[in-house]
Amino acid sequence: MSDKVFRIGPIRPPSEANSLLIQVTNGCTWNKCRFCQLYRHTKFKAYSADSIRADIDNIAYWADRVRKYQRKGSPGTSWDIDGINAELAAFADDDERQCMYTVANWLLAGGENVFLQDGNSTALSSGRLTDVLVYLRQVFPQIKRITSYGRAENLSRSTAADYAELKAAGLDRIHSGFESGSDAVLTRINKGVTQEQQIRAGQSVKAGGIELSIYFMPGVGGKDLSASNAEGTAEVINAVDPDFVRVRTAAIKPGTELYQDWQEGKFELCSDDDKVREIRRVIELADESLSTYLVSDHMINLLQNVEGYIADKRMLQVIDRYLDLPEEDRRVFQLLRRTLRAYDLDDMKRLGSIERARLRNDVMKEDELGWSVRMNGYICRYV
Ligand code: SF4
Repeated sequence: MSDKVFRIGPIRPPSEANSLLIQVTNGCTWNKCRFCQLYRHTKFKAYSADSIRADIDNIAYWADRVRKYQRKGSPGTSWDIDGINAELAAFADDDERQCMYTVANWLLAGGENVFLQDGNSTALSSGRLTDVLVYLRQVFPQIKRITSYGRAENLSRSTAADYAELKAAGLDRIHSGFESGSDAVLTRINKGVTQEQQIRAGQSVKAGGIELSIYFMPGVGGKDLSASNAEGTAEVINAVDPDFVRVRTAAIKPGTELYQDWQEGKFELCSDDDKVREIRRVIELADESLSTYLVSDHMINLLQNVEGYIADKRMLQVIDRYLDLPEEDRRVFQLLRRTLRAYDLDDMKRLGSIERARLRNDVMKEDELGWSVRMNGYICRYV
């Protein structure tokens, strides 16, 4: 393998689509959540500071090669895209091509943001993480934002002073999959963290000056814990005031323990409407003093346009507009969303009357299946 290749891990948040990905750890330190199989076959590894620095040097090498195609002029900067594509097409080594492609995409998108992978990069000792952050900013002074994933349990072991040190070294935001703030749900999904630890973690991260983006999974507790999932999560949000809450609607994937539970009748899936009601309840319970911004930035969410400051209760109107529809229209919308034919409710207006009547008729016949469907390999349940 070429000595100019750097590691690229598999996962990043959608908000980091244009970020440079630097793999500082591999896998997840926990690997036991019952809904997750992302890193099941990966043994966790934290890379040494030397090894990460070598990757950063290689990224700098590719950045220099890409910058040859930069044209500075007025107005702003443009790129010789054909030149970049011609060089990419000429590579004999696929890994080298991938590295140059990754760096080119990053620079063409502005080259401002970096995401440190994988599932729990804050498991690196704080000294090692600090070294990496400082070196990264030395090599690429134009970087504006560096973010990373961190497990709440792990984050709860560090103090506000530790986070202030990481912030000073250049870490701007931590993404953390809280999933739920309900202890009952956290136990059911084996998240390995408690509500109290989540609150301590969140408050320390924020007090250290680092932005916090937490993930909420409506429906992950199942039908009997649906209210608890919403209420416990609202308690955490109210106690922490995270900068972002990102909604990731639960959909159960074959191969996970939760899927097995569902098959054995030990876990009752929430319907799409149950999950929407959970989101509604979280917004309803959120304190009006919060500065948290709620984002639905994933296609798995039924109502992807529910977005805004959580203290601004106008998002409830978007949800209520959906919940107030007749059942057959809610089902038609769910079907259109799950088959990628609609983004929001207004897209239903494009249906002709015959098509709408046909769909309404079809969707109301499916009760035998309990409206369990496969969507991109996930199990969802309608209404
Ligand atoms: S902590 Fe995250 S990556 Fe690790 S098992 Fe749980 S959900 Fe998966």
